[in-house]
Amino acid sequence: MHYENTLAFAQRLDAEDSLRSYRERFLFPQHNGQPVRYFCGNSLGLQPDTVRTALLAELDQWAGHGVEGHFRGELPWMHYHKFLTHQSARLVGALPYEVVVMNTLTVNLHLMLVSFYRPTRQRYKIVMEAGAFPSDQYAMESQVRWHGFDPDDAIVEVAPRQGEDTLRTEDIVAAIEREGEQVALVIFGGVNYYTGQFYDLPAITAAGHKVGAYVGFDLAHTAGNLPLHLHDWGVDFAVWCSYKYLNSGPGGPSGVYVHERHGDNPALPRFAGWWGHDEGERFKMRKGFKPMRGAEGWQLSNAQIFAFAAHKASLDIFDAVGMEALRKKSLRLTGYLEFILDEVNRSKNLFRIITPRDPAARGCQISALTDGRGKALFDSLTANGAIADWREPNVIRFAPVPLYNSFEDVWRVGQLIEQCS
Ligand SMILES: *Cc1c(COP(=O)(O)O)cnc(C)c1O
Repeated sequence: MHYENTLAFAQRLDAEDSLRSYRERFLFPQHNGQPVRYFCGNSLGLQPDTVRTALLAELDQWAGHGVEGHFRGELPWMHYHKFLTHQSARLVGALPYEVVVMNTLTVNLHLMLVSFYRPTRQRYKIVMEAGAFPSDQYAMESQVRWHGFDPDDAIVEVAPRQGEDTLRTEDIVAAIEREGEQVALVIFGGVNYYTGQFYDLPAITAAGHKVGAYVGFDLAHTAGNLPLHLHDWGVDFAVWCSYKYLNSGPGGPSGVYVHERHGDNPALPRFAGWWGHDEGERFKMRKGFKPMRGAEGWQLSNAQIFAFAAHKASLDIFDAVGMEALRKKSLRLTGYLEFILDEVNRSKNLFRIITPRDPAARGCQISALTDGRGKALFDSLTANGAIADWREPNVIRFAPVPLYNSFEDVWRVGQLIEQCS
């Protein structure tokens, strides 16, 4: 697409944007009486204006009904997780009973590893991306140790080639093939948090299955960012959080996907709790765990109502827009940001974009690897009303979020970079 570095051009794209009214449904932090230019939706999404009402409704439910709130009202707490199921399933391309919302992300990652990382002496390796989000690294390392293996031997990290910033799919596939029957689990982020690279999930899944391994994805930076087809791709399991692109508030709950071939297998080992038990018998308080069919069978506890209520308010918006329409705008908006960053960088030479240039290999994040002046630039952007995200040691991440960012936001951040550097 042809882009121009002018306010008039940015405003014209905004006028043509069929999703532009959604911006009004989000609450923007203010800077000097103006909404900030917010590029941090990959870290904490903005608050939908419906969240407050949704939370107040649950406070009223509690005040008005006490324990009876579990059974009364439009959204009785007893079944609350089910009210999130269909929307979550559409979001990640799964069958409804393949998903459940529960706990938080790293907790769910461990619960999935309990079921899908059961190493033997012959098959014990985990293939993952080098530079994964630290929580994922710690989860893998501790699981490997927990089973009595050595992380240095059992964890195989696939790194970019010398002089490259991101991974080639052929190198990921080659690493899986090389480790072959020793691979117990292949796990990748859907989108790498640092570089913004969107991996080829179907290719990775196929390669993992070919060597007889389970394949799972951490979709923290992918859910709500890119259209997904987890079921059709045959992915074994996935987890995601709801507070980044899914705008459900700090510490928001996590989603889990388990393919039906595993969800239909009650013999698959797992850690159990009463909310995963057959709901027809849950309150009989008897011995003998019988898991619910599908992902619900991995639940431990009853729903965190306030967090789920905020999540539901946000999922309502995603459901109204649809991931395909979001992606369509996202491609234009991220492409515009890439163009603007290249424009301002041409004379200043402040950074190098490490996110893939191929739009199919990224979502709505552009990561700029800076030189020694990077932190100062970032701080001065913040002081001037543009919120991006700093990742040690030297990357500024910009996430133009199609739900609430405008083309004008993108143009203005380019102007600010010019002024601040
Ligand atoms: C944000 C993020 C996390 C954070 O985990 P929590 O358990 O929600 O604190 C973990 N993994 C990845 C890949 C992330 O991007």
